[in-house]
Amino acid sequence: MPSYHIRTFGCQMNYSDSERMATYLEALDFTKAEGMGDADLILFNTCSIKQKAEDKVYGHLMKIPDLRAKNPNLLVVVAGCMVRTSSSRYSVKRDRLFQTMRDLDVALKTDELPQLAKLARKIHPELNIPEIKEESLEDYFHIPANHDSHESKSQAFVAISNGCDKFCTYCIVPYSRGREKSRKIEDIVSEVTALAENGCKEITLIGQTVNSYGLGSYDKEHGTFAHIKKEPFVHLLEEMDKIPGLIRVRFTSPHPMDMSDQLIEAMGDLPSQMPYLHLPVQAGDNETLKRMNRTYTVEEFRETMKKLREKIPDISVSTDIIVGFCGESEEEFQNTCDFFKEMRFEHAYLARYSDRRGTTANRFMKDDITETTKKSRWHHLNDILIAQATEALERFHGRTVNVLVESQNAAGTCLGRSENFKTIQFKSGRKLLGKIVPVKIQNSKNWILEGELV
Ligand code: SF4
Repeated sequence: MPSYHIRTFGCQMNYSDSERMATYLEALDFTKAEGMGDADLILFNTCSIKQKAEDKVYGHLMKIPDLRAKNPNLLVVVAGCMVRTSSSRYSVKRDRLFQTMRDLDVALKTDELPQLAKLARKIHPELNIPEIKEESLEDYFHIPANHDSHESKSQAFVAISNGCDKFCTYCIVPYSRGREKSRKIEDIVSEVTALAENGCKEITLIGQTVNSYGLGSYDKEHGTFAHIKKEPFVHLLEEMDKIPGLIRVRFTSPHPMDMSDQLIEAMGDLPSQMPYLHLPVQAGDNETLKRMNRTYTVEEFRETMKKLREKIPDISVSTDIIVGFCGESEEEFQNTCDFFKEMRFEHAYLARYSDRRGTTANRFMKDDITETTKKSRWHHLNDILIAQATEALERFHGRTVNVLVESQNAAGTCLGRSENFKTIQFKSGRKLLGKIVPVKIQNSKNWILEGELV
């Protein structure tokens, strides 16, 4: 039987896609290989957010000639955000990656995963890749994710939508993944119910703009959610809340424009909702936001945060910021720093702007902030982040929090997450992996809260 190895780069969405890719390959009678060196098919599920992410893929591809010398039938597939056109090296219309990646056999757009067998068969007929018979494997979203690849059975990531309609000027996702399409509620409910029956206590619903679930242009055109009286995402959260055994429901990443009052109410009212939100603001200046096409103002974002904190006073909020975006003046950057402090973000992913081919910013704007300035702005904001994050951790000292234990080593050291998504460390002689236990917090160190089991 031929074997496969998947290398995943980038965000949680890609990891979730890889779980679908694993299911699909196993349905084609591929078995999981130990590593790249043992595989007949190597699939790189790529990320394009930064040049560094792409360089990692190029680095791995350098190993292919040696591997192919040992296994001439080796099939190399690149999927994910670096791909624009599903094609093989023999297709009439080939993805541009074939110009730079000499060892590539198949390029595959994520939602066109069901085409993989057809494209691969043309390259290596001797692998005898069978026809897929199951209907469930004909449509990307019907392919069940292979959650077994996850270490912890108590947690899972569940994709609810794919693609994006927002077209932020720095982002490639709407071009690489296409327009936003949402999965049917019934399919999500049955996947999560099965996970909960299998011991899963916490799920994270994922999508590029997870809270616009069911509101995308594709979904509206096809009327899939027309029968749902509420906002589809709120309805979905309510359905998740009813699933027996499922204790925690998180979601990432929401778009600030779709943080409706209905959603904020549901976040405060549903017992399975956790007091944590990752809400990417990207910049704290209206001119920068306009150039980024983020479609909200700092005033609107501030209003959303006010409503969130009124409804859920203990909520922890984290964010994403891009520094050094095209045309970002000193004053604009300073506004971002001030807004970051005002919003009291407790954590953040800070990125230095990286020009990506094919984006609107790449085509129509100038990447005019020097690397030195980007670096110094990043460090300046990072210092603010460290101060805020430290203060945010200190507010938990002396409190007892519920921790879902994600790992426990031989010495009994447990690591897990609190309801506010803080990393908690404590020791126990009992086997606690996958359990939710109360821990009294004593201090904090290096972004981690330390405590003892109550
Ligand atoms: S919302 Fe913007 S940043 Fe997020 S995936 Fe869509 S286009 Fe990209």
